[in-house]
Amino acid sequence: MSAQASTAGQPALTPNALTVLEKRYLKRDTSGKPLETPSDMFRRVAETIAEPDKKFDKKADVKKLADRFYEMIVSFDFLPNSPTLMNAGRELGQLSACFVLPVGDSIEEIFDAVKFTAMIHKSGGGTGFSFSRLRPANDLVKTTTGVSSGPISFMRVFDTATETIKQGGTRRGANMGILRVDHPNIMDFIMCKADQKLFNNFNISVGLTEKFMEAVEQDEEYDLLNPRDKTKMGSLNARKVFQRIVNQAWENGEPGIIFLDRLNRDNPTPHVGEIESTNPCGEQPLLPYESCNLGSINLGRFVSEGAIDWSRLKGVIHDSVHFLDNVIEANKYPLQQIHDMTHSNRKIGLGVMGWADMLILLGVPYNSDEAVKLGKKVMQFINDEGHAASRDLGQKRGSFPNFIGSTFDKKGALPQRNATVTTIAPTGTISMIANASSGVEPLFAISYVKNVMDGTKLVEVNPTFEQLAKERGFYSAELMEKIAEHGTVHDLDEVPADVRRVFVTAHDITPEDHIQMQAAFQYHTDNAVSKTVNFPNTATIEDVENVYMLAYKTGCKGVTIYRDGSRDEQVLSTTKKE
Ligand code: ADP
Repeated sequence: MSAQASTAGQPALTPNALTVLEKRYLKRDTSGKPLETPSDMFRRVAETIAEPDKKFDKKADVKKLADRFYEMIVSFDFLPNSPTLMNAGRELGQLSACFVLPVGDSIEEIFDAVKFTAMIHKSGGGTGFSFSRLRPANDLVKTTTGVSSGPISFMRVFDTATETIKQGGTRRGANMGILRVDHPNIMDFIMCKADQKLFNNFNISVGLTEKFMEAVEQDEEYDLLNPRDKTKMGSLNARKVFQRIVNQAWENGEPGIIFLDRLNRDNPTPHVGEIESTNPCGEQPLLPYESCNLGSINLGRFVSEGAIDWSRLKGVIHDSVHFLDNVIEANKYPLQQIHDMTHSNRKIGLGVMGWADMLILLGVPYNSDEAVKLGKKVMQFINDEGHAASRDLGQKRGSFPNFIGSTFDKKGALPQRNATVTTIAPTGTISMIANASSGVEPLFAISYVKNVMDGTKLVEVNPTFEQLAKERGFYSAELMEKIAEHGTVHDLDEVPADVRRVFVTAHDITPEDHIQMQAAFQYHTDNAVSKTVNFPNTATIEDVENVYMLAYKTGCKGVTIYRDGSRDEQVLSTTKKE
């Protein structure tokens, strides 16, 4: 685990992490041979991101700052999102993971968005779109007197383009497709991934409104509106639509849902535009043409002698915000509009990984009230200190340019450098690099097989468990094998009861526990929380419905579920065949 990471200037990399870095992150020659070591890469990142300090202070000691950034990265206290690791200080220079693009209701605007998507995917970024502005299928097209093919058929164009670009890009592209629940084609959208061969480069979510949720609760009809002129094109029973969403999610995990009014309630710059979409994994709501760079603090590294080291954590939070604000400067944006929008709002997304590791080191079970309370406390601390750091930068560098008219613009308000500061990312790859548990997720399993791009399979065993098993004298190769097959330790008598209690996995806990933890972190997060609520294969449709409702009631901004075995291919699986 991360706690073992070296602080002597060299990263402690597992073989799996090294494989991922060599394949996709390190500079390579044309034959694919790495031209840098992982520590060269971390040095390249630290130096590139320290450099912008000079813009604000001619006498800035950039060398010293680069050393501090390097130490924070190489020890895995903090890692920026993948594009920053891949591209900082290199020709491409595109450093953000998250983008949202507008899709306007004309052929020109749609294909502009396809082109912009291609440019973003090439650089390792992910794109989110709302297709809600597109007129419905069979609606009139004035210039040709033909009929429109509607949002879902245009989504296919984006999907195909993504599929084609992934051959040459740094990683396979990822998209989020959103459709408002009051769009006339909503039923087709809900079903568009029912055939698992379709839209494989998309995550889809239905954009729900408060009005719709009230209609669900009252079992009423709601209106479908033509986005072109807002005329009513019919109505549907809200509860039936909600049930269709839930049904489909039970079938194969999609669509997810996002609560559009909540995203806009927390939109810091409503005077600049309305939020219609998030990035692909849902944690980052953005305005059209906005991008955001993420970074995650590895909480497992901040437990010392059984307690949280708050003061060291505070230092790393401040340095992380400084780092992410500098990323905005060092970034080479794929489009002028994105450059301008990102510079005007200066959104950053500081989050966490290694939350499950932290709980294990503290001896707190993930599925306990204590863990939920602690989650809230830890995130409040990160959010408060993160904002303090952003205000400090604001004093020195000025507020984000759209500050006037923003929700921060109140009498006596202090300068604020960034329109948002915190986001909980999935940390899919960076947690693997740091050998930490991902995001705020529980351990997926004590041991599992991970399918990565191009079909390679990596076997991961939780190192803290292994270490503990050795220390406590219950380690044996046979037992480790048995656990790998079994996927959980909760019913294995060979493992002491206190260890079983703490090493809970995603499948040992209830869907409600997942939501409670998501809500706890959402409470003090500016943007959103990436989280998958895992269900056993035996879960019922009602179980899924209850969780979607619970997410709504507990203030989550959206929810994504996965019922084990419900998709042909899954990214993570235990070695055990269900
Ligand atoms: P990482 O661990 O690689 O930094 P995360 O798993 O935290 O990335 O994902 C953060 C965001 O990065 C996602 O929400 C998405 O916007 C973007 N992203 C993730 N994977 C991909 C991908 N394969 N292609 C494009 N963008 C991606």
